[in-house]
Amino acid sequence: MTTLFVISGPSGAGKSVLIEQLLARDPGMRFSVSCTTRQPRKGEEDGVDYHFISRDRFEADLRAGRFFEHAEFSGNLYGTHFQELEEAALQRRDLLLDIEVQGARQLQEKGIDAVYIFVVPPSFTGLERRLRNRNTEDEAAIERRLKQAVDDMAENSRYQYIIINDELEEAFTQLQSIVIAERIRWHRMESKLGPVLDSFRKHNTNV
Ligand code: ADP
Ligand code: 5GP
Repeated sequence: MTTLFVISGPSGAGKSVLIEQLLARDPGMRFSVSCTTRQPRKGEEDGVDYHFISRDRFEADLRAGRFFEHAEFSGNLYGTHFQELEEAALQRRDLLLDIEVQGARQLQEKGIDAVYIFVVPPSFTGLERRLRNRNTEDEAAIERRLKQAVDDMAENSRYQYIIINDELEEAFTQLQSIVIAERIRWHRMESKLGPVLDSFRKHNTNV
């Protein structure tokens, strides 16, 4: 069974960097490639970082009911196709979703069983510095993202885990620990525990 890991948090908090490190070390984890109407950044690849699609195409997919969740963020549309979940299930891998807070809330309100993780920066000024140093948005877009970050931070209590991404190495260890612990929760261990229990059943003299 695929476990969904939902990672959310203000833009610039460090989600992409943490996710990249996790995916490099964890072959059992698949990244959910979202659709977006925003323009690719330098170095971003279509089909790898995102499916970069037009607004018309996005809206057509939305009408056709192809999205598991979607949201408008900073003037662009973002969404996860159901197909991402289907492919992860076929590959028997877990699925990691990097989505903003409205999308995460849609899943929570639908009662979707997932591990909800909120990544935050150490402070507002720290976030601003990271967004500026990343150098991927113009001034107006940075201002929009910072304003949005203030609202996003107010959603913190909806999440099961909080990672304060100050020291990257420590934050990564925390993310990895969450994934390891969640995978051995009792309800996710049924298929692995079964054969162990079977081997004991043969020796049960009380039946
Ligand atoms: P997000 O995906 O949440 O928008 P990114 O992963 O793109 O954020 O990170 C934003 C910027 O901050 C990037 O330039 C990244 O290299 C940098 N960054 C991320 N985590 C840290 C950290 N712990 N310390 C310093 N810089 C960081
Ligand atoms: P960026 O433009 O920086 O890549 O992403 C902006 C925001 O959109 C980030 O907070 C990211 O988590 C979010 N995002 C990316 N893909 C999706 C998606 O499929 N659905 C939703 N709701 N948000 C997404």
